[in-house]
Amino acid sequence: MGDNVRSNTFNGTSNRGTAPPPVSIATGNPNSAHRVPPVISQANRSRMQHKPPVTKQFQPVPYSEEEHAVIQERLNKVLGPEYVSFRPGGGGQNVSYIEGWKALNLANEIFGFNGWSSELISTEVDFLDLNHGRYSLGLSVVVRITIKDGTFHEDFGYGYIDNAKSKAGAFEKCKKEAFTDGLKRCLRCFGNVLGNCLYDKTIIAKMKKFKVDPPELDKSDFHRDPLILQRENIKQQSVRSSVPDGSKGTSGSNQQPAQAKRPMHHQEPKAKNNNNGTITPEPRDTHGIKNPESLAKTYDLADFDSFVFSDDMPDENELEDHDMNDGIEEYALNKNNGESDYSNTLSKASTPVTNDTNDKAGASKHNNNTNTSVPELVSFINAKLANILQKSPEEVSNLPSYNTRFVSNSIRRTVDPNKSVPIKRTEYSQRVHQTPPISKPTNDYNSATPLGNKRMIGMPPSQVPQSKRPHLESKASILPLLQTIGPYNEVAEEYEPDAAVEILNTAKILVIGAGGLGCEILKNLALTGFKNIDVIDMDTIDISNLNRQFLFRPKDIGKPKAEIAANFIRNRIRDDSLNINAIFGKIQDKPDSYYKSFDIVICGLDSVEARRWINATLVSFVDENLNNLIPLIDGGTEGFRGQSRVILPTITSCYECTLDMVTPKTTYPVCTIANTPRLPEHCIEWASVLEWPLKYPDHKFDADNVEDVEKMFELSSDRAKEFNIKGVTKQLTLGVVKNIIPAIASTNAIIASSCCNEAFKILTNINPILSNYMMYSGDDSIFTYTYSHSKKNNCSVCGNKTKKIQAKRWWTLSNLIDNVISKQEIQMNRPSISTSRMNLYLQKPEMLEEMTRPNLNRKLVEMVDIGEEIIVTDPNLPIYLKLIINEFNGPENEPNDINALLAT
Ligand SMILES: [Zn+2]
Repeated sequence: MGDNVRSNTFNGTSNRGTAPPPVSIATGNPNSAHRVPPVISQANRSRMQHKPPVTKQFQPVPYSEEEHAVIQERLNKVLGPEYVSFRPGGGGQNVSYIEGWKALNLANEIFGFNGWSSELISTEVDFLDLNHGRYSLGLSVVVRITIKDGTFHEDFGYGYIDNAKSKAGAFEKCKKEAFTDGLKRCLRCFGNVLGNCLYDKTIIAKMKKFKVDPPELDKSDFHRDPLILQRENIKQQSVRSSVPDGSKGTSGSNQQPAQAKRPMHHQEPKAKNNNNGTITPEPRDTHGIKNPESLAKTYDLADFDSFVFSDDMPDENELEDHDMNDGIEEYALNKNNGESDYSNTLSKASTPVTNDTNDKAGASKHNNNTNTSVPELVSFINAKLANILQKSPEEVSNLPSYNTRFVSNSIRRTVDPNKSVPIKRTEYSQRVHQTPPISKPTNDYNSATPLGNKRMIGMPPSQVPQSKRPHLESKASILPLLQTIGPYNEVAEEYEPDAAVEILNTAKILVIGAGGLGCEILKNLALTGFKNIDVIDMDTIDISNLNRQFLFRPKDIGKPKAEIAANFIRNRIRDDSLNINAIFGKIQDKPDSYYKSFDIVICGLDSVEARRWINATLVSFVDENLNNLIPLIDGGTEGFRGQSRVILPTITSCYECTLDMVTPKTTYPVCTIANTPRLPEHCIEWASVLEWPLKYPDHKFDADNVEDVEKMFELSSDRAKEFNIKGVTKQLTLGVVKNIIPAIASTNAIIASSCCNEAFKILTNINPILSNYMMYSGDDSIFTYTYSHSKKNNCSVCGNKTKKIQAKRWWTLSNLIDNVISKQEIQMNRPSISTSRMNLYLQKPEMLEEMTRPNLNRKLVEMVDIGEEIIVTDPNLPIYLKLIINEFNGPENEPNDINALLAT
């Protein structure tokens, strides 16, 4: 750009004769624009980032002779001085150039906005150097401009930057610069008026003598945002009404009349006739902004436009503090003196469609109309009242206006924004010695508090160290939560903060499980201030628990989890009113009356079976009047994933409703384990299921015995070697034989927190509760997702318990039991089956099992009628199912061919 010596142009408008013959559009024949092969080598072409375009931008349309003559005449003209910019070049010389945006405007003017197109043919990075963290980049592009009749010119453009801070910034600058450069160089190939004349030194020398007045802009030149215009209108109206009569005029009274228009684009350049000025050449763009005072009149569209070409960017300090609106406003203020003139402009601007720009009389008429349509009163109302207003606009004077300072009671502020109160020395002096002194200067408000190294603003004044603080007083942090009556209290009028506080003292909470989740839950509940907590767990402490079950210490290994956990909490809280009660045992052993004594049950279990049991038990308590409804909160984690859910028995979906979402325990087919192992797990399973009983018939494998695990690992490793399988480790061996669920303390903390917050809200009723399932995912994608799982109609616990099934004619009772066991949504491992007429098969007691065992091989069709209710129970679950056989189909006898069996 701006380079006067262009020896390597590859299509010829150069006057120097070194380039190939010029491609002329003078003939008007599209075929004459033959393509000159580009300078860039084929090898380089293949490396280019942009593929050459395969389709033409538009089909060539030949110009008519008339059109052709007009275009040619325009192209032959020399650029008017207002188009030419100067900037200092090398050797103290001024370089003339045309700004990119002006070139575009010219092209649009000459060819029509739809009469030409530009393409980026290729881009090539010539060099990219990284030096001391700075990027230097040089980049060349090939640009093609095609006009309507198919004639095109190609030229290269170049962009470079030295020592740019960022790579992306360097590319951005260079690509834009190169493209603009290429575009301008292409355009100049079309003729003088598109820039070629700038290479004629005699013309330039003469042109420098012309002084071009900076263009005056008329409001009608702007394309304005209607919304902004409307606002300006309203604003100006109110300004006008507040200005006293004597001072209506604005400051810019020395400005030129409004008729002065931008000379660009609409006037033919008249360089020869305008030969009357002898002003010394400006070292800069003749449109340049020289001083702040001239800003108002020299504002150019380019200054308002962010689409300024990077290489033609005006200096930043020239544009300082003048953004688009400043300019327009200043312009408007300066341009008009009297009131009528002023609103004249406004009304014109507000009606861009009619655009009767220079007709003053017409505009004045307009003005009168506009005045009446702008409302005098501007005020705000809130959204609710806005609805009323839309229905009956005449209400406008009766409605209270919007109070911008209003703060809802439900929003609690710890700092009153309207008040500034000095903090007393006594409030912060106590902590001075605890905080290291801050060495940074105090005026750095980011690093130091206004008080320097003193107490942070907004922190409560420190009292006695926490460890010595009585538990009762520490509840102070929770009371504000309970004492605030907000819009989320279920029935705000009936909410009693005192009652909510009292709940902390009286509520009875059962925590099932004192493992990873249980430890967290117990800690949270006790620290929240709950006083009556029972914890039940049948497990003892294992060394592998210590990494996350933080209520236990190495000395506790082997002891009951529930008791140790309760002891720890008791010692930590040191509050005589805290009743924490531990039960070491199975939940199934406790009577109904025990469970009915609780207000809420929280589960932190790793057993599906125990969850199903407590779920079914709590659902069974609820009668039709919703008496004995005990909410159940269930948490669960596996590695980085977890979920918490609130079950309101018989109201929301229950645990059983979601049973099909539980990941089934991984099992491996015995034949694979025995014959064709492929995975390390297969080898371990083989060792534990098949090999161990053979090798150690008298010794049952104990996963907690280090020697046993070692032996199991050796067996598995040998098996793996035999089949060339890799990946058997001691860890994996333990994982497979114990079926260990991965667990991490942090995920337990997240889920336990959610469970305890829900318990707190359910009991105190201060905020809406979880409805009803929150899942947390922290591994491959990180999110929490809360949704309302709906009750299942055919849930075997809370829904219609009758399931309809289709049976085969050849089914024995044993086949029916297999079918029940295999159903994921039923998940009964040991079903007992009976009808109202007879016990078909009972798992317990032993005597009845023996009596009913022969039925297993009898045909079902002989024992049960279609539509007859079959009751299915499981001794491990307090639930039952009703099955109804819809239909018997298939062959009479069991197909012995496996394919036929599958086909049925
Ligand atoms: Zn259910």
